[in-house]
Amino acid sequence: LSNKNIVVIGCGAGGGTAAQFAKKTDRKANITIFEKGNYPHFSKCGLPYVISGKIKEFSELIEFSQDWFKKNNIDLHLNTNVLNIDSKNNKLKIKKGKEIFIKKYNSLIIATGAKPTIPPIKNIKNKNGLIEGIYNFRTIEDGKRIKSKIKKGKKAIILGAGLIGLEIADSLHRKNMDVTVIEALPSILSNTLDEDIATKIYDNIKKNVKIFTNHIITEIISKNGKIKSAIIKNKNNDEIKYLDIDILIIAIGTEPNSNIAKNAGCKISKTGHIIVNEKSETSLDNIYAAGDCTEYVEFITKKPLTVGLGSIVVRQAISAGINAAGGNYSYPKGIIQTRTTILFEQEIAAVGPTSKYFNDISFLSSTYSGFSLPKYYPGGKPITIKVIANSNNGRIIGAQAFGDKAAQRINTFACAILNEMNIETFRKLETAYAPPIAPTFDVETIVCDVLSMKLFHRKI
Ligand SMILES: Cc1cc2nc3c(=O)[nH]c(=O)nc-3n(C[C@H](O)[C@H](O)[C@H](O)COP(=O)(O)OP(=O)(O)OC[C@H]3O[C@@H](n4cnc5c(N)ncnc54)[C@H](O)[C@@H]3O)c2cc1C
Repeated sequence: LSNKNIVVIGCGAGGGTAAQFAKKTDRKANITIFEKGNYPHFSKCGLPYVISGKIKEFSELIEFSQDWFKKNNIDLHLNTNVLNIDSKNNKLKIKKGKEIFIKKYNSLIIATGAKPTIPPIKNIKNKNGLIEGIYNFRTIEDGKRIKSKIKKGKKAIILGAGLIGLEIADSLHRKNMDVTVIEALPSILSNTLDEDIATKIYDNIKKNVKIFTNHIITEIISKNGKIKSAIIKNKNNDEIKYLDIDILIIAIGTEPNSNIAKNAGCKISKTGHIIVNEKSETSLDNIYAAGDCTEYVEFITKKPLTVGLGSIVVRQAISAGINAAGGNYSYPKGIIQTRTTILFEQEIAAVGPTSKYFNDISFLSSTYSGFSLPKYYPGGKPITIKVIANSNNGRIIGAQAFGDKAAQRINTFACAILNEMNIETFRKLETAYAPPIAPTFDVETIVCDVLSMKLFHRKI
């Protein structure tokens, strides 16, 4: 144990978690976090639910307060921007208000996260930034701006039908706004679900909000500096439509905050992310990185994968914190991307890449719909599961589900994938059974029976 200086840049889920685990590993270390924003570690994932009103105040999203860090002997500086990393001399140049100062470190953890991608739409910005009425959705400030504009019957347009875009669409629909989602791709949730499963979800979403897939916004029209409408174009036939808009929310993805890491000499990927290994080490000695600013590998394909889920960020940050403090901890040999949400009362979950990423792997899949309880027991709810397996060896490489306890069921597949389990073993899994809780054979094993028959041309 030492008096070593461990410095963390950023106090989001990544930085906050890394600092805690560094402290747990080396109680004598001096741990300092510099965060350029106004808030300590808070849950971005909770933002949609403050918009919907399920959570009352944005302040409830703060998971670890400034006081908490103080009590735990972690020196957190808010409103403090790290300008530059001098990796040769192990020091940082930092700006707080008008003051500029230098901080030395023995180990550094970069957890600078990401910023929203702004699409190249004509007139989306003026000299002050985004036109009034157009918002990102990543910070508490963004959330507060959006919440202040909620009004029954007003028109909210969401750009992007990924998990976050659809979560905010659901929240604004609950506030009785007139919601339309615009998506450039032919399918919604294209990084979460295969198109066949997404289509089944789409039917439920369409009952609640309007969705234009294969459409892009080409131009914003504003009046007195405020958004008024937009021109949208159908990518299939170039047909143009005008949409009246009260608020427009951009949810098309993010770009990493990796400039200071790049300037320090850290190896950066094609997509601009900081490349890390299973120990969250960057290419530079004593510099670790975790979270949305990083890229690691996907578990099945072993291809590079950018991090963009809080569930991954915090686990990677555990590895960064422990190793920066002199411990020895490894993240698994790839990210399996276990993910979930609930959209318009329907639970959705998935694990593993969607099929479009299996370029070099031959695979087969089966989908099965059943009920969560035996047929004779009242209250059973529908559940659909798709399972994907490598057709050469039967190894399970992905699963997607919607319906009752979809996430719990997908967690079982996550366990199978991480342990490189074969469909033959999984289909014989002894699942818990009692009529009020689960059927004798759960949909999760029945779908594997179906796929096994397909894979091995068997009758049972
Ligand atoms: C609306 C929404 C809903 C989501 N829902 C889910 C979900 O349900 N499940 C899930 O798994 N994931 C979800 N995510 C994703 C998840 O929230 C993110 O992956 C995670 O919060 C990223 O954490 P991070 O610490 O890497 O980055 P960030 O939270 O972006 O934190 C980085 C911090 O670094 C600071 N910083 C940057 N540069 C500097 C600098 N030079 N000096 C000082 N400070 C700096 C920034 O101010 C920022 O606070 C959601 C995201 C959003 C936006």
